[in-house]
Formats: sequence, C-alpha cells, structure tokens
Amino acid sequence: NKPILEVKDLRVSFRTYAGEVQAVRGVSFHLNKGEVLAIVGESGCGKSVTAQTIMRLIPTPPSFIKSGSILFDGKTEITKLSNSKMEKIRGSEMGMIFQDPMTSLNPTMTVGKQITEGLIKHQGLSRVAADERALEILTLVGISNPQGRMKQYPHEFSGGMRQRVMIAIALACNPKLLIADEPTTALDVTIQAQIIDLMKKLSEQTDSAIIVITHDLGVVAEMAQRVVVMYAGKVVEQGTVDEIFYRSRHPYTWGLLRSVPRLDQEKNSELVPIPGTPPDLFAPPKGCAFAARCPYAMKVCQEYDPEQTQLTETHSAACWLLHEDAPKVERPVEAGG
Ligand code: SF4
Ligand code: MG
Repeated sequence: NKPILEVKDLRVSFRTYAGEVQAVRGVSFHLNKGEVLAIVGESGCGKSVTAQTIMRLIPTPPSFIKSGSILFDGKTEITKLSNSKMEKIRGSEMGMIFQDPMTSLNPTMTVGKQITEGLIKHQGLSRVAADERALEILTLVGISNPQGRMKQYPHEFSGGMRQRVMIAIALACNPKLLIADEPTTALDVTIQAQIIDLMKKLSEQTDSAIIVITHDLGVVAEMAQRVVVMYAGKVVEQGTVDEIFYRSRHPYTWGLLRSVPRLDQEKNSELVPIPGTPPDLFAPPKGCAFAARCPYAMKVCQEYDPEQTQLTETHSAACWLLHEDAPKVERPVEAGG
C-alpha cells in the first residue's frame, strides 16, 4: 500500500530584496491513504510554505523549490509538473481549505456555482449532475436547505457556514488529498469545535487523506493520527499522536506542548511560553536551530545539526540528547502525559 504523498528532502526558499530566506530546509515525511496528518509548529516554521508547495500554490513573497521531491499517489512528481497539469490535479485530486474562507471564496459568485464550476471544468460533469453533487456535498457538510443556499452569495453566510462551504468546495471533487491550513483559526471557539467535528467525520466517511496545518494541539488531538513537528524549516520530531503527546523526545516539542492551550485539557493547566524567538532564516545557525532557546543545549548543539534518530517504526526526532553519549534528560511532566 503506497503512501498517497511522499515528501523527500524538500527545500524551498523565498527571494526577497534582502536576500534568500530558507523557509523549508530539507523536510521529509509521508502520508498514507485515508490518513490524517497534522503539521505543527510556531508561525514561520515553514508549515504553510510546505503545504502550499505541495499544492504548487506560490506564497508571497515568491518562493522557489530548491531541491527535493514531492511524489503524489506513487507516480506524479509534483515538483516537475507543468502549471496546466498541476491546475488539473488541484481541481480534481487535491483540495485545499484555507484559514479565511472570505479571501478564498469568490464574493460575486453564488455558492452553488462555486461548487459546481470545478466539477464541470475538471471532472466533465453535466450541469445537472454537478448540481446534484453540490446538493449532496452541502448536506454532507451540514448545511441545511442546500437548494436555497446554493443560490446565495458568500456574504449571506456566517463565518462558520462559509468555512463549511469552503470544505464543500474542496471535497466536491472527492480529492485523494485535502490540505487544511489553520482551518479553524479565524472562527470563534464553539464554531471551531463544530468544524473540527465535521472534518473528523468527513475524514472517516471519505477516503481523502488530510494534512492539517495548525498551531492548535486541540485540533491535533481531535483529528490526527500522526504528527510532524516543524521548527525553523525542518522536521524536528514526528510520530503518532500518542508518541508526540506522551512520549515526545525533542525539547522543542516539550516546549510546544507546554505553551499551547488544548481543547482536550483542563483550562487551568498552566501555559509556559517558549522563551526567545526562532532563528533568522536568512542565515540559519550551523548547529541545532533550537539551540539558542533550548534549556538543554550542549556544546555540540551549537556546532553540528543533529540527525534524525529513529525511535520506533513511526517515531523519530532530531536532537543530540538522543545520542548514546548524551546526558540522560527526563521529559518534563508538564509536557503531557
Ligand atoms: Fe536542544 Fe541540543 Fe537537542 Fe537542539 S540538539 S534541541 S539544542 S538538546
Ligand atoms: Mg500558516
């Protein structure tokens, strides 16, 4: 059973007036068919750039793929595809859900038209068949009176309903891969929970594999099976949800777990922000990128970047503490468990 997506040693940079920013610096992970994978990390860690690069959407400032491979469905090399072929895949085999549906929905087009457009253009459906599919998918995402709603414009929907429309558009073509970038961040808490529930339900009912990009560990706990933790353009740890929440081995993951509120945790558990800021990716540090903020940093950490250590079949982390000669460090209890 081949993974639906295999990202290998991906490097993506931005060209800016001041020079090249290395936003993604050798990222590797895979996604199995039907699986939900979360990519987490602070803003600027490269998680959104990674997602946009997989969809070949060019973030601003303009980015370029320096090297690496993105293999889709075992056969399509995304990094080498022509724009027209890529556009076709985006409209049929991949879907994307953005943080703010208002910027990605067309305000001048009815919701019905926005759902059916891709079905007619990319899937060759007739108008009647596309309308039927739109009704079906609007019902699936929990929008009542879908007939009437199809004739309405995005501004006639509430924020939560707009996000449901966005999800409907992304799902209409039955994509093999769905990428959701901070799908709930712009919504209030009650609506957030509803959208997470919906996405979880959809991931169970459809065969779409999902990558959810988030800084919200509650979303991870609710939806994902596996987690990729990114820092300063690299994967620092990855594993199953249990491995990351309860058996994590990277100090950055520990910091993240302590610093972010979680839907599934007591409100009164104390949040401890990670001191300091991520490094400047104009000139990334030569050693571990987390060294300047890491309470466990050793001499070697300043000099050499740690390699990935495979801990289980699903769990790996890149930290010098995992070296056999390193001092033994206990995972802080506040970091979960
Ligand atoms: Fe901290 Fe060193 Fe591990 Fe980096 S490699 S996270 S600095 S202990
Ligand atoms: Mg982002």
